[in-house]
Amino acid sequence: MSKAAASESASLRDLPKLDALLGSQAFAPLIEAAGRHLVTEETRAALDVLRTDLREGGHVFQSELTEPALARLVEKRIATLLDPIQCRVLNATGVILHTSLGRAPLAPEAVKAAMREAVEYSCLELDRSSGKRSDRDKLVNDLLARVTGAEAATVVNNNAAATMLILNTLAEGKEVPCSRAHMVEIGGSYRMPDVMRKSGCRLVEIGATNKTKAADYENAITEETAMLLKVHTSNYAIVGFTHEAALEELVEIGKRRNVPVVYDLGAGSLIDLKQYGITREPSVPDLVKTGADLVCFSGDKLFGGPQAGLIVGRKDLVAAVKKNAMFRMMRCDKVTLALLEHTLKLYLDADSVVENVPTLRAIARDAEEVKRKAKGIAGKLKKHGVEATTADSTSQIGGGSTPGEELPTTVVVISKLGGSPDAAAKRLRMGTPSVFCRIENDALVFDPRTLLPGQDTELVAAIAAARKA
Ligand SMILES: *Cc1c(COP(=O)(O)O)cnc(C)c1O
Repeated sequence: MSKAAASESASLRDLPKLDALLGSQAFAPLIEAAGRHLVTEETRAALDVLRTDLREGGHVFQSELTEPALARLVEKRIATLLDPIQCRVLNATGVILHTSLGRAPLAPEAVKAAMREAVEYSCLELDRSSGKRSDRDKLVNDLLARVTGAEAATVVNNNAAATMLILNTLAEGKEVPCSRAHMVEIGGSYRMPDVMRKSGCRLVEIGATNKTKAADYENAITEETAMLLKVHTSNYAIVGFTHEAALEELVEIGKRRNVPVVYDLGAGSLIDLKQYGITREPSVPDLVKTGADLVCFSGDKLFGGPQAGLIVGRKDLVAAVKKNAMFRMMRCDKVTLALLEHTLKLYLDADSVVENVPTLRAIARDAEEVKRKAKGIAGKLKKHGVEATTADSTSQIGGGSTPGEELPTTVVVISKLGGSPDAAAKRLRMGTPSVFCRIENDALVFDPRTLLPGQDTELVAAIAAARKA
């Protein structure tokens, strides 16, 4: 094709044949890299699009139909297809458990150990010493009971499933008194009253939105009462003229009236976070000690592990939960169980767990250390020609936990990265790795608290790359 012809409009006749393209030199490297099957499918699809375009009178240059041009087009289609959908993210939002960014980042040690088991065969449901069939989550349950101080434990796919399973097991066809303050929506379509209805139990609303007393629970108990339910209002706080019956009071009533007390805790920290200034998140061992009959919480919130629903408490109740036919529909897969096992093992050493579980490390990071990181990042950015300052701010736990409880932090502030703050934030998100930050007062704000070890340098490079004159 001559140069003049190349810039001319193409017609259907100019469309190359599929076989000719696949046999051409231009396509050879592509086939080598992506495989003949995928290249054939994508080339056919690309030719279909061009054919339709031409038939419908769309404008196509002859230069777009050369072998090298079509190879580039097919290469781009394949790259789009293979582009990671769950790309790596540098979380500089300061929200430690960001549900949209996958909640808890996993402990690298736990992942390494779990993946070794996942790529090979493992003793998932087999007792090695007897050679007999065993319970797939026995080890996890024993560890979980040990680190929480509970009599027994079990796990399902997430805490929503755990709540549903407990309600259905203990209270199907029966009454469950629950405070009007606990009619919470967690997000999506998960609303406590709807979950209770679906579980087959009858919700008995008690108290008022802002005040529910222990006597309200006691007065609601009838022959039909299956359990008392307390829900941790982890994603909102009622402030002002309020009262919430304490777990101790419910436990006392439950024991006296022979009704189990269940606590849907949500965030579920295994360690006491008061030392880090988080006072509204009771620890699971403390709740177990208080005498709650069952406590359930998420695996990927403050526990810092994979998505799971962890249930701990009385042996007979845990056994009943495991006997429910629904348990089989909610059971965890071997990868989750292996991740849980190795994350739980990190908790056996109380001295190092905060260092080894990224979620806990982010919470425990000292404000002075974060400030030094922020200043270091700002300094490096200046060397790249990006004007950056630092400022006092706050980080959040997130993931629907501890509203109103924040951690002091120092953020890196960039007022100008080219274009509007929204446009700059989008360039950062679209980069590799993808960077998420906050926008405050028309400036980009980066919180080093939620960066993982070693990500500072990557963040600086990503910001420098997103700069626009
Ligand atoms: C987060 C939360 C849930 C849902 O847990 P998932 O593990 O996301 O299913 C249920 N109850 C409470 C109180 C929560 O905070």
